[in-house]
Order: sequence, then structure tokens, then C-alpha cells
Amino acid sequence: MHSGDGQGPGNAAIAEQLEALAALLDLAGASYYSVRAYRRAAELIRSTPAPVAELVRSGRVRELRGIGSAIEARLRELVETGRLAEIEELETEVQPELVGLGRLVGLGPQRMVDIGRALGIRTAGELREAAAAGRLREVPGIGPSTEAKVRAALERPPSRPRRGLLLNRAWELVTRLADGVGGVPAGDPRRWCDLSLRLAVVVPGDDPAAALERFHALPEVVSIVEREERRALGVTVEGVPVELVVAPVHRFGTELLRATGSEPYVASLGALPDGADEEAVYRALGRPFVPPELRETPLAGEPPALVERAQIRGDLHVHSTWSDGKASILEMAEAARDIGYGYVAICDHTRNVRVVPGLDADDLRRQGEEIAAVNERLAPFRVLRGTECDILADGTLDLPDDVLSELDWVQASVHAGQRQSRDQLTKRTLAAIEHPAVRSISHPQGRILNHRPPNAVDLDAVFAACVETGTAVETNGLPDRIDLSAELVRDAIRAGVLITCSTDAHSTRGLGNMKLSVATARRGWCTAGDVLNTRPLAEVLR
Ligand SMILES: [Zn+2]
Ligand SMILES: [Zn+2]
Repeated sequence: MHSGDGQGPGNAAIAEQLEALAALLDLAGASYYSVRAYRRAAELIRSTPAPVAELVRSGRVRELRGIGSAIEARLRELVETGRLAEIEELETEVQPELVGLGRLVGLGPQRMVDIGRALGIRTAGELREAAAAGRLREVPGIGPSTEAKVRAALERPPSRPRRGLLLNRAWELVTRLADGVGGVPAGDPRRWCDLSLRLAVVVPGDDPAAALERFHALPEVVSIVEREERRALGVTVEGVPVELVVAPVHRFGTELLRATGSEPYVASLGALPDGADEEAVYRALGRPFVPPELRETPLAGEPPALVERAQIRGDLHVHSTWSDGKASILEMAEAARDIGYGYVAICDHTRNVRVVPGLDADDLRRQGEEIAAVNERLAPFRVLRGTECDILADGTLDLPDDVLSELDWVQASVHAGQRQSRDQLTKRTLAAIEHPAVRSISHPQGRILNHRPPNAVDLDAVFAACVETGTAVETNGLPDRIDLSAELVRDAIRAGVLITCSTDAHSTRGLGNMKLSVATARRGWCTAGDVLNTRPLAEVLR
């Protein structure tokens, strides 16, 4: 650890140590809250201008918000000794390789720490040997059925994670691994699936052994569970398996196509000819090129000209600090303008949402003054006065009609009561669609991926009402929502409903999720004409 100013470790060094401790505690199965407390303390210390070492010495560090007595004690140890004994203890106990393998086969980190300690093993190889020798049963708490499960999983390692990865995480992981080996991301993330089960990287090269070594040496890959001449299955510390395929240069396109499409799609192409790139393979097949997003189910004929991110002219669903956003209206507007948009709609929550601050009619009028000032400053860029208005249990809206009619852009959504019956949810949503001020329905199914299933609303009825009233439906780009999903986007546009591609951004960074929303629209066969916010502002306002 190097010093900040000769008075002890600098803030960045302290933060780094707290983060290392948090990561190890997480692996060791510590409570979510203590792990989070250390991560937050690290973040806080990094952004604190005053030297934290001095605050610790003068006994004033607890004046920083979020620093309690446990963290103060760790900080004192760090400042006085330059290290944290617990980090060193945890590092000998928690073997990332064992933790990753454990998660892959369905055993928690604490279990793996116990196994490692009881049997004196540290590596995947040693674990395999111990399992083969029947020694797992020596570990307290491991019965014959767990033993059998682990042995089977080690012999035939699962090639898919235990649950699907959200799109942002899956994409980030395969991109990082691909960059690390000079390859290209493939598998489900390349098709922009909302949950990824197959993660793959394809790398061109005629020295497969070297490519496999590079893959194994990546910090994210804690263990290689399968290895063939041109293929390996690695696993991350989170227990996520990732396949590496090393393709001869003249077959790179062939292998990339095979590692990208869904199984039924790839099977529908028949035997794949050699091709250095995908275009060459499609040409040799006598078929038009198909973008990865459409390689889900077999398709014949020419694919449509799908909407592209560059055709999006504005974001119609973002939040600000007026409700639960992290950035001001000005900051959101400048960030949207810097992306190249012509407009952005500030759609903060209304009162009924309760779990976060919501706006009433008076708040919206005061917010309108702030928006007017920002518009004056940023013209010709345009900030729209919008709302994400709650649809109440009886189908009425959470704002009075007079304020709704003043707004430029009204979208409505169901937050509370997602478990209502199909009949109740449908009546409620239809009532909102029929309200003259409502322009779009946000996250119509209310699902949270890996957490809450889609609600029971009758989307056929919703789409029919939308066509009648000229209301759009959203495909929400938050990675744990992606709502509507791609198949339902396709149903919507077949019914003649317009789609809004929105981010629901709660920060300037969140605006980047437009690529997730657009990818979902593309998976749903949308052309630019199907997406409302590819249009100039005058056509969006009516
Ligand atoms: Zn919402
Ligand atoms: Zn929202």
C-alpha cells in the first residue's frame, strides 16, 4: 500500500482494501448487508476529499455517513498497520477456483470453504481426486446424495449457468473474455437474449493450444472444466460456464455462426459450409444474411430492415432527482443531447408509487418551470414535460386531468397490484389506454427477470385498444425488465401497435440501455417505422 501524503494510506488505497475485503466476504458467504456495507464505505471513502487516514487518527471518521463502529475498527487497523488481517485469513480459506466450481454444481461458497478446509484441498484437480476417492463423505454435512450430485457434475460439468444471466452482465462478461483472447462474443448475448444461458467466445487462430492457455490465464476464468483440442469450457467465480471455440481462420465465420444461433436455427441451415466470415457462409448457403437478433427460430426469405440504434431520435422515459433518479433534469438533458438525440421526456413517478418519491400536480407544475429554464438553455434540444403516471387499482390515473392535459408526454404504468387477476389487470390497463392523455403504456407486463413473473394482463385486448386509440407500448431497456419481451413486441407490431424504445434511465449512464431496448425491438422484427421515437419531435407530439 502506498501513502497518500506521508500521513498513512491514501483514500484510494483504503477503498481498494475495503473492496477486496468485501469481495472475499462475499465469496465466504457473509451476509449481503455486511458485504454491501464495506462496498458502500469504499465508494464513500473514494469520493471523500478529506484524507480519511487523518479522520481516523483524530477519531472523527464516524462523522462520515455510513461509517459505523465495525468499519471504523477496520479503518483503524488499516491506518495503523497498513493491512487487514482478515483479508489474509480469508485468502487462505476461500479458493476462488473451488467457489466457482461449487456454484457451477450448485453448492454455496460456505460449503466449498468447508470442503476445502476439511479435506485440505485447494484446486479443482484435488477436488476431483477427493470426489473420485469417495472422500467427500468425510466432510461434516455432506451426505451420499450431495456426494453423488457433486461427482456427477464434476464428470459431466453443466455447460449452462444455474439461472440465466441478465443481458448487461452477460454482454459485459463475454465481451471482456473475448477481448482478453482476441476473439468475438457469441452465444445468447450476441442474439441479445433477455436471459443468457449459453455464453461463448469464438477466436480465430491456427494455434489452438496457445488460445486455450490465454483463456485459462484470464482473471475471470477460475477453472477449466472441459478441454478439447479446439474447445474449452471455463467457469467464472460466479459459477458461470463460458465456452471458448478456436476456429481455423478459413472457418471462423462457420464457427461464429454455429456458436451464435439457437440450436433450432442452426439446425435449420443444414450442413454449414466453410467461410472466413458469416457473410461468406450465408452466400455459400445461397441465403440472405440474417442479423444475429433474428437467429432464434428458423426463417425463410429476406429479413426486414431492422430498426437501428442510430435511428432513435429521443428517449421517452427517463427519471430525474425529482423522483428516484440520480441526475438533475439539466444533467439528463445534456447527456441525452450528447448522445445525439433531439428530445428527452422527463417521466418521474407519481405519488401512488410510494416506495420512492412521487410527484403530485403542484410538483409537476414547479417541475415545468425548471424544464422551461433548461429548454431555454439547451434549445433547439427539447426536454418534454412528461410523467410515468401510476394506473390506480380502479383504472383511474394518479394525476388530475387538468395537469395531464398540460403535459407533452404521458405514459402510464401499473406498479402496485401486479398480482391482480387477469380480468382486473386488463380492465385497469384498458381504462388507462382509453384516457385521452395517455400516449404509451410502460413495462406492460411488470416482470422483473429472475424475480417476478409477468403479470396476467390480456395483451391481445391491450393491443386492440392501443390500435383503436393510437397508444404505443414500451419495450423497457432496464436489463432486469426488458418488457415487452421480443416475442410480444412482434405480436404488438403485427397487431399494428407502435413501440416506444425507452431506457427508464435513473442516471445519465442508464441512457446507455437504449441499445438493450433497440435490440429487443429488433428481435421483435421492428423496422424504424414501427418505433415511435425514430420520428421527429413534431410527429411525437400531437
Ligand atoms: Zn415504472
Ligand atoms: Zn420509470
